[in-house]
Amino acid sequence: MTDLTRRTVVAGTAAVADSVGSTSTQAAAPPAGKQAPGVYRYKVGSHEVTVLTDGVRMFPLTESYITNAPIADVRKALAEVYLPPDKMIHHYAPIVVNTGAKLVLIDTGSGPGALKQTNGELGQLLQNLVAAGIKPGDIDAVVISHFHGDHVNGLLDENNKLAFPNAEVLVPATEWKFWMDDGEMSRASKGRMEDLFKNNRRIFDALGRKVTQYEWNKELAPGLMPIPTVGHSIGHTSYVLTSGSAKLYIQSDVTNNPDLFARHPDWSANFDQDGPQAIATRRKVYDMLVAEKMLVQGFHYPFPGLARIEKAEAGYRVVPATWSPTL
Ligand SMILES: [Zn+2]
Repeated sequence: MTDLTRRTVVAGTAAVADSVGSTSTQAAAPPAGKQAPGVYRYKVGSHEVTVLTDGVRMFPLTESYITNAPIADVRKALAEVYLPPDKMIHHYAPIVVNTGAKLVLIDTGSGPGALKQTNGELGQLLQNLVAAGIKPGDIDAVVISHFHGDHVNGLLDENNKLAFPNAEVLVPATEWKFWMDDGEMSRASKGRMEDLFKNNRRIFDALGRKVTQYEWNKELAPGLMPIPTVGHSIGHTSYVLTSGSAKLYIQSDVTNNPDLFARHPDWSANFDQDGPQAIATRRKVYDMLVAEKMLVQGFHYPFPGLARIEKAEAGYRVVPATWSPTL
């Protein structure tokens, strides 16, 4: 029997330290100094889904972030899930769906401009795409869920050309109609909304407005169905991906960070275009996800963003799916 006294443990440790550290000619392993590629893959029936992180942004929490709850309550909610109570964290993760016939990218992240501005924190999609073994030219279709910068800015490369040169760009018809309407733009409030209109003109004008508008509830690719989930924006779209009996709900921005908005579904972020409508949509979608026990992929979930939803006291709990080393 081993008599594991303090003496033998200390002696053993010293022996190991000796054997590792005694020769001064051995070079220390240099630290990598950067994160490894953010790629995760899983299957939905015969479809293969590749999740690619576009990065993370952390910024000071302000009074105006949540429009209908006191900041003290928001700080408390963050502390309850061991997050810094004075900061907000936004995660970003577009996905590629391989339907067998086509490679479909859903949303494009914040683009190469953000990669420079944030010193690599955001705009990582293209480098992670390449790390996943997919070339931008391999993408057959880019499907956009809604026209906010973290979803459309990555459509353009650093030369202001389509970053996915062989892709058809598919956009929700309702979203297109609103953001490309000159009358709507002239009535936009100063600040964020006006900036969004300008940004969308910048992006889509660079593409010569060459897009395919799509309607809800009509398949975009085999098994990929766009579903209206309006509120966050006027034409905000989620998707159901189906293959045989397997189903995945791709929620887009039904919630932003679920640590706040799944647990507190009635809180409105200042970036929800129609707060009450966004809340109603969120509750309807999450009640359905609970009832169906359906897997959900969240664009703004912590990476890799695959989970199931359970009912919790006032809202919902996100239960991350188990990581799998194989497909
Ligand atoms: Zn978003």
